[in-house]
Amino acid sequence: MLSSPIFDLVVRGGTVVTVDGSWQADVAVDAGGRIVAVEQGLPAGSARREVDATGLLVLPGVIDVHTHTRLASDEEPDRFFQDSLAAAFGGTTTFLSFNNPGTGISEAAQGRLRDGIDEWLQRTAGDSAIDYGLSAVITAQQDDPVSDIPAAVAMGVPTFKAFMVYDFGVDERALRRLLEATRDQAALLQVHCEDRTMLEAGIRGQLDQGRTAPAHHADSRPTACEGTGTTGALEIAAAVGAPIYAVHVSCADALAPLAAAKRDSGVVFAETCPHYLALDASRYALPDEEAIRCVISPPLRAASQVDALWAALADGTLDLVATDHVPDRLAVEKRYAGQPFTEISNGAPGIETLLAVVYSEGVARGRLSLERMVDLLSTTPAGLFGLEHKGSIEMGKDADLVLFDSAARRTLRAGDLHHTSDYTPYEGIAVRGAVRGVYVRGNEVIRDGTFVGRRGFGHFQHRELVWRRA
Ligand code: MN
Ligand code: MN
Repeated sequence: MLSSPIFDLVVRGGTVVTVDGSWQADVAVDAGGRIVAVEQGLPAGSARREVDATGLLVLPGVIDVHTHTRLASDEEPDRFFQDSLAAAFGGTTTFLSFNNPGTGISEAAQGRLRDGIDEWLQRTAGDSAIDYGLSAVITAQQDDPVSDIPAAVAMGVPTFKAFMVYDFGVDERALRRLLEATRDQAALLQVHCEDRTMLEAGIRGQLDQGRTAPAHHADSRPTACEGTGTTGALEIAAAVGAPIYAVHVSCADALAPLAAAKRDSGVVFAETCPHYLALDASRYALPDEEAIRCVISPPLRAASQVDALWAALADGTLDLVATDHVPDRLAVEKRYAGQPFTEISNGAPGIETLLAVVYSEGVARGRLSLERMVDLLSTTPAGLFGLEHKGSIEMGKDADLVLFDSAARRTLRAGDLHHTSDYTPYEGIAVRGAVRGVYVRGNEVIRDGTFVGRRGFGHFQHRELVWRRA
């Protein structure tokens, strides 16, 4: 009698990449979607499904911890699903989203932190193609958000974002209370760091001179504005002994206080985004209709800042890269009719191009090792954000795998992407590398440029920050 296969899936002959090194090995997966062996020469016929990965890299699925996916609505029923699908095409197997006001959360749910979480969970249930989770946005308009933090943590939402600017941003006193609360509840506060006084003066200074074009958005929020905001937030975190995470770091003025704070504390973290690594402020010299594509906050910076960010990724000042994906469309949310920059929706799409940009601009150009890239895109995001079964190709982890052809060459085009925006800021950029296959928990989701997964396959990730309880 023939014995039945012992594995559900074996990915055979690829180069498996982990933080510790890369080697040729077979990856075996059980019927529960977990990795059960990573070793050379697993016997033929030992799996129900065999995939030949010869000549390909086998990477852990990318984890994008900073997205602003929109919620589905009657008018746009596929808005959330479609961006989850786009993420999969790019090699992302798990994403975390924020529930900012304006991304689909109803007015009624914006008054309480818990209501915003409840509504987001209900309206995303059964919709995602890949695994997903929520980081909840805390605003100045919410009624006593501190009192809702324990409930949020219990609901699997232990990471929160607060803003130091915008009408929904919090003041220093509120920021302090939020840092104390997240410290006490084994949570983590992510902070959008810009100095409110400097930003308001910067905007006023531009408008008073009649400088209202999209390019003047960048002039209104210089690097010093981000640097001062970052220093201020880090000082409060240090004073209360709280962990802190700086989102979308774009410049050396923010890197310097982060590096200093990291030397003093083991719980200071920071991310940058692919647009700060691949693009620069020269975009704002283009015609308004082009410049508006890169109206984001913080803005794109000078080319010298780009080099500083790569160096910070390599030396550990920056812990990870995430997209800050905003699927605004030039034809809709970002439509330009000559309005002043203060009335242009901020943000740019990126959920599908994270691995492409970081591999091509980072690894292929010799700025990062392959192993460091895997750390920045998978292993560190998993560990820091409480995705304990994800982020690495090793026994016991979810079989979230990307088969990646590092030799491929292609050009990024909006027409080839699947996200719900109608453009990409990387239009026309030539990249090295291409995703050939994607697996989420052992389930094939992308095969040679085709979606073969299923809407609703993605599981909500009930997260707990295990490292905060240690
Ligand atoms: Mn932000
Ligand atoms: Mn953001």
